[in-house]
Amino acid sequence: MKNLFKNILIVIFALMVLSALFTIYTSPLKEKEEISLNQVVSYINNDEVKKITIRENNLEIEHKDGTIKSSRKEGELGITETLKNLGVDNEKLKTINLEIKGESGLGFWMANLLPFILPFIFVAVLLWFMFRQAQKGQTQALSFGKSRARLNQPMDKKQKITFRDVAGVKEAKEELKEIVDFLKFPKKFIDIGARIPRGVLLMGPPGTGKTLLARAVAGEANVPYFHISGSEFVEMFVGVGAARVRDLFDLAKKNAPAIVFIDEIDAVGRHRGAGLGGGHDEREQTLNQILVEMDGFDVTTNLIVIAATNRPDILDPALLRPGRFDRRVVLDMPDIDDREAILKIHARNKKLANDVSLRELAERTPGFSGADLANLVNEGAISAARKNQKIINQLDLLNSIEKVMLGPERKSHILSKKEKEIAAYHEAGHALIAASLKNTDPIHKVSIVARGQAAGYTLKIPSEDKHLRSRSEFLDELAVLLGGYCTEKLIFNELTTGASSDLKQASELAHALVTRYGMSEKMGPVTFGEREELIFLGKEISEGRNYSEKVAGEIDVEVEKFIRDAEKTADKILKRRKSKLILIAKRLIEKETIERREFEELMKRK
Ligand code: ADP
Ligand code: MG
Ligand code: ZN
Repeated sequence: MKNLFKNILIVIFALMVLSALFTIYTSPLKEKEEISLNQVVSYINNDEVKKITIRENNLEIEHKDGTIKSSRKEGELGITETLKNLGVDNEKLKTINLEIKGESGLGFWMANLLPFILPFIFVAVLLWFMFRQAQKGQTQALSFGKSRARLNQPMDKKQKITFRDVAGVKEAKEELKEIVDFLKFPKKFIDIGARIPRGVLLMGPPGTGKTLLARAVAGEANVPYFHISGSEFVEMFVGVGAARVRDLFDLAKKNAPAIVFIDEIDAVGRHRGAGLGGGHDEREQTLNQILVEMDGFDVTTNLIVIAATNRPDILDPALLRPGRFDRRVVLDMPDIDDREAILKIHARNKKLANDVSLRELAERTPGFSGADLANLVNEGAISAARKNQKIINQLDLLNSIEKVMLGPERKSHILSKKEKEIAAYHEAGHALIAASLKNTDPIHKVSIVARGQAAGYTLKIPSEDKHLRSRSEFLDELAVLLGGYCTEKLIFNELTTGASSDLKQASELAHALVTRYGMSEKMGPVTFGEREELIFLGKEISEGRNYSEKVAGEIDVEVEKFIRDAEKTADKILKRRKSKLILIAKRLIEKETIERREFEELMKRK
């Protein structure tokens, strides 16, 4: 719109210039008085004329007093003849300076041709502008459906990123090495009849290096890498997303073997038909197109789709089906060793003073993601440069911790030294109780690296699939849940908010034991309450009461009894094995994460 307006202005301006030129050349005599030939004759006879200039049929009469007048003669006859016919005094005429001039070249052409050419020029210019405008619109309309994918060629040495540039995330790297193998030596796998995975989903909190890792895979495999963000598929115009997906995959197939990287896939891959937030048809179409494209790969298509998200919980299950993103790679927040390694990478081409200890920085930055750490090093460099230093000191780096911490949304995750201690004992409590009771799942990982809202977590994974769960399992589970709470009370003689979600979970579980599973001896095999699933809210559940106040009171008593018993169990174990508890907690403070093998080794120790 703005462009069109500008063009119209330009056209109008051009016209004005042209018409100005036109008037200058066609009517140079305009301001001079026009007189008849008879008058010219009488002026001559009166001896008033000094000079007559003739241009074609135009006469310019210069009087002796300097005034200039103009006149015109007939075309056929010469000037002298014309004047003679009108009875000019022959003698007088001879004294007059008669000058005959041809039309000056440019003026002549301008004067004669411009009136004809001008309209043509005008129309031509107008047409040209209109055409240009239309063409622009057309290319714009065409490029809507084009994917906006950015291509990184493997030869691009400068931008090349390999696994060496990614620290930590060992498991993720291990899994992705396989992908690199697929891309490099597809034949090996096809020959043996293996199906090459088509999709890999990288999951992890923001800043843990998902985008970085995807680029590293491309760099390692030396293949082109198409990068597009989920939100770029979704635009104002319906159908654009799907068209872009098609275009992207066509492009990638032409360049196979290649990697297509869809960043932030949750923008299009949301659970379809969840209802909340309004079904977005466009998004669904885009998602469908992605699925169609991925299904359309044949065995030999050497194209691997890597997608990244920090919200795997909201992804459409269809994306996770085999043949699509069947490989899932989890990226965790870095623990202390990882943090040191990441800092090392980002300090590589920075000038550091000798007093810099990256280990100390790593110790001071629990809860920092890889992106935070990269930012931290950079902030340190900036503040050193601002103080006109040639090298970066430890103090610069330590001071930038706060800068990064105060950045958006980080604050809640940073643990102070005291908090770290509490979190370590809390998790150690959970872990110790889980390891001490019979009916619990084995511990896979204990960590005080913040995850989501929790300051830490203890990961138990059942050794086999379970469909039925028993009362004794639930009772042990309750004790494990209360383990954190009881430890805090035992060690610090104080309670924190850190246990609140444990307590909520424990209360819910105890409530379910009484009202749903009939596992309370006193209440017997009865269920209480009518449960109603609110479909549109997904999994929310509302409960209607169909029992009396008296029964409600009894339920509460029973729930409390379950909780109290669990607390007693937990307390007993903690007191009995306090030294073990301290051992685990100390190790946690030091290393932040304990893996299964290390934990088992700790438990065996005398
Ligand atoms: P995500 O995509 O998971 O949000 P990015 O891959 O965009 O995170 O990470 C942002 C930046 O943080 C990277 O460019 C890199 O500089 C740094 N970074 C993150 N994780 C790591 C890591 N594990 N090793 C090295 N640098 C990292
Ligand atoms: Mg990213
Ligand atoms: Zn807990």
